[in-house]
Amino acid sequence: KLHNTILELKGNIRVFCRVRPVLPDIDYRGDDGIVVSYPTSVECLGRGIDLMHNAQNHSFTFDKVFGHEASQEDVFFEISQLVQSALDGYKVCIFAYGQTGSGKTYTMMGKPEAHEQKGLIPRSLEQIFETSQALKYQGWKYKMQASMLEIYNETIRDLLSPNRCGSTDATHANKQYSIKHDSTGNTLVSDLTVVDVCSINEVSFLLNQAAQSRSVGKTQMNEQSSRSHFVFTLRISGMNDATEQQVQGILNLIDLAGSERLAKSGSTGDRLKETQAINKSLSCLSDVIFAIAKKEDHVPYRNSKLTYLLQPCLGGDSKTLMFVNISPEASSANESICSLRFAARVN
Ligand code: ADP
Ligand code: MG
Repeated sequence: KLHNTILELKGNIRVFCRVRPVLPDIDYRGDDGIVVSYPTSVECLGRGIDLMHNAQNHSFTFDKVFGHEASQEDVFFEISQLVQSALDGYKVCIFAYGQTGSGKTYTMMGKPEAHEQKGLIPRSLEQIFETSQALKYQGWKYKMQASMLEIYNETIRDLLSPNRCGSTDATHANKQYSIKHDSTGNTLVSDLTVVDVCSINEVSFLLNQAAQSRSVGKTQMNEQSSRSHFVFTLRISGMNDATEQQVQGILNLIDLAGSERLAKSGSTGDRLKETQAINKSLSCLSDVIFAIAKKEDHVPYRNSKLTYLLQPCLGGDSKTLMFVNISPEASSANESICSLRFAARVN
C-alpha cells in the first residue's frame, strides 16, 4: 500500500543506480572507494573530483542501489514484477543511462552465452514467454511482436531490416523512418520491421541479428553502438477466450548512448554533431521524465526522436525505470557525478 502511494506520487517512475565492479583489465591504481553504495544511496568520495566544478553535493539517494557484488539475478529479482506488468497490459520502459564503459550493455544484454551473466533483456523475455505459457491454462492467448531499432544522430535505423544486416548500401542506411501515433495511442514507425515471435529462441535469433547490424555500423562509423540509442520493443496482445478480457502491453528496453561529455576543445565536424545530438536527446529525455514526475501540463515529447517514439509509453499509467550505471574508478568521478545528478533530477 505504502509502496503504491510512493509510486503514484512519482508518476510510476523509479530510478535504480548500479555501480559496476572494478574490471581486472583496467589501469587501476588502487584509488578505490570513489563511489560508496548503501541500499539506497551513493556517494562520490573526494579524490578524482574536480572540486572547482563539482564542489556541492556528492551524495545521492535512489529507489535502490546495486553495488559491485550485485549479480544479474539480484538485479532482475528487483524488476521482474515490472516486466510482469507488461503482460498485464501496462506500457513499460526500462532505460540504462551512463557513460561508455559503465555497464549499460552488461545490465541490459549481459553476456547471453554465460547463463549467470545474462542481462535483463534475455531474462525478461524468458519470464514473459514462460508466464504466457502458464497463463494458457487460464484461457489466455498471447500474440507478441518484436522490433529493434537504433537512433543515431536523430535518425532511426531498423536493426531487423532484411536489407540491413551485412549491407553497406548507403541509400538504405539513409532511409528516413517517420514516427506517427495513431488514434489508439499506438506508435507506428514507417517501414520498420516488426516480427511475430512465439518463443525465446525466436527473439534470441533476432537479438543476434540486431547485434550484427549494429556492429556493421561500428567499424564504419566510429564505435557507433555506444553513440546511438538501442531500443528493443515487445508488443504483447493478450486475449482470454473464457472471460473475453483483452490486454495490450508494451515492453521497451533501451540501452542509451554514452552520456559522457566531450572535452570542449578538439571536437569538430561529425564528432561534434554526434555529441550534440546525444546530449540533446538525453536532456530531452530528462526533461520529459521530469515533467511527468512533476505532473506538469506540458510534456515536451516532440523535442527528440527518442521521446517522441516512446511518447505513448511514458507518462499516464505507464511505468518507467531508469538505471543509472556508474564506473567506480576515481578517473571517472566527474562523469559519475554528472550521471548521478541527471538521475537524481529524474528521481
Ligand atoms: P557500456 O555499455 O555502458 O559502455 P559495458 O556494459 O560494455 O558498458 O561494460 C563495460 C565492461 O564492464 C564490459 O567488459 C562488461 O562486461 C563489464 N561489466 C560491466 N558491468 C559489470 C558487472 N556488473 N559485473 C561484471 N562486469 C561488468
Ligand atoms: Mg554499451
